[in-house]
Amino acid sequence: MNNITAVKGFKDILPEEAHHWHQVERIVRGVFADFGFQEIHVPILEKTELFTKGIGDTTDIVEKEMYTFRDRGEDSLTLRPEATSSILRAYIEHSMFSRSSVTKLFSIGPMFRRERPQKGRYRQFHQIDVEVLGAEEPQADAELILMLVHLFKMVGLENLSLDINSLGCPECRLIFRQKVIDFLQDTHDSLCPDCQRLLVNNPLRVFDCKNDSCRRLIQDAPSILDFICEGCRCHFNQVRTCLDMFGMPYNLNTRMVRGLDYYTRTTFEITVPHMGSQNAVVGGGRYDGLIRDLGGPDIPGIGFAIGFERLMSLLQDRQESPPPPVLFIAALGSEAQAAAFKLCNRLRLEGIRVEMDYAGKSLKSQMKKADKSGSLYTLILGEREIQAGEGELRDMGSSKQRTVPLDNLKSHIVQ
Ligand code: ATP
Ligand code: MG
Repeated sequence: MNNITAVKGFKDILPEEAHHWHQVERIVRGVFADFGFQEIHVPILEKTELFTKGIGDTTDIVEKEMYTFRDRGEDSLTLRPEATSSILRAYIEHSMFSRSSVTKLFSIGPMFRRERPQKGRYRQFHQIDVEVLGAEEPQADAELILMLVHLFKMVGLENLSLDINSLGCPECRLIFRQKVIDFLQDTHDSLCPDCQRLLVNNPLRVFDCKNDSCRRLIQDAPSILDFICEGCRCHFNQVRTCLDMFGMPYNLNTRMVRGLDYYTRTTFEITVPHMGSQNAVVGGGRYDGLIRDLGGPDIPGIGFAIGFERLMSLLQDRQESPPPPVLFIAALGSEAQAAAFKLCNRLRLEGIRVEMDYAGKSLKSQMKKADKSGSLYTLILGEREIQAGEGELRDMGSSKQRTVPLDNLKSHIVQ
């Protein structure tokens, strides 16, 4: 029989890696708490219409990447490709807006997109997702970007490239949209087939194409900042002033439109060099009309999503091993094994990391195992020691060994 393997593009996170993820998650949660964010858990499965309505039905995600199926012939369901739509659905469904004028939420979990798997691009990947709902002020945008950059610093990453742009509001975007159509009309035949089609349905998507020749063409396209209205310009300038207040460097990237249709005004991205088209670690922006479009009140919002796998790949060389056991118990003979089993689990219940081997192997083999485990101490138990209520405690660092009473073992262990 052939071995059953994981589904293509779906990846196991093995224990050492999971441990490292957990360490990073702890730092992330600490930063979020300092900035007043609360965690929300939302399902990974939603009604398909949530995403077609939210993300936009001419985006890559909705057109090509969603895992959509009929639930036993009934509703059309989709494994979430991103978290914002789900979080907003929950926000509306539970009328969270009536509890507080500003709601700050975060969520960490898996997303699903049927893309071509490659390094940094998987079909199940994880995002750290953050949303601020109810704040229209430019200070909210700046604060979110500030928190993001601070978070990267706290996990040990500095000098990453922060790109910001404004996509304006639906009114000024309409003018820009026509300018882009006019510009691309002449170069129509040089665009890739996808972009030729987008030119009709969703011309701004062309800015997001990863095809080199489309990218070159778009370089000379008009800049959105030349067309945004007074209100959007003023908002964006204030965001920039706030960032300057913290001496935060950024690139003004007028070519960045982001891959989801719901963005308005401020958008931002953090990228790293040498990662090809998988170079974006974070994407985010404002989505002032989305809550209304999803059937909720007209409440503004802004958020970002960090690609967890891409973040972790930048921290690869800083991986620390999980902590070793404090104590390894090596027991010889069935009576000592039984006593060791009891002692081992009693100490664990008291919060001490203890390991032992149940296979009843030789002392030499158990000592080898203790050594490999990296434990600070090894307790050697034989029949004679059990009779006397004692054990031989070996300090694995100094190799010094002494006899200690079992009922007072804890006081001889320095953690
Ligand atoms: P990309 O341009 O790389 O396709 P995106 O614009 O589709 O990214 P977003 O939808 O903004 O990405 O998601 C935010 C972050 O999630 C990205 O910056 C990236 O770090 C991560 N991400 C997106 N798709 C994948 C994937 N298939 N595998 C791993 N990480 C991903
Ligand atoms: Mg993508």
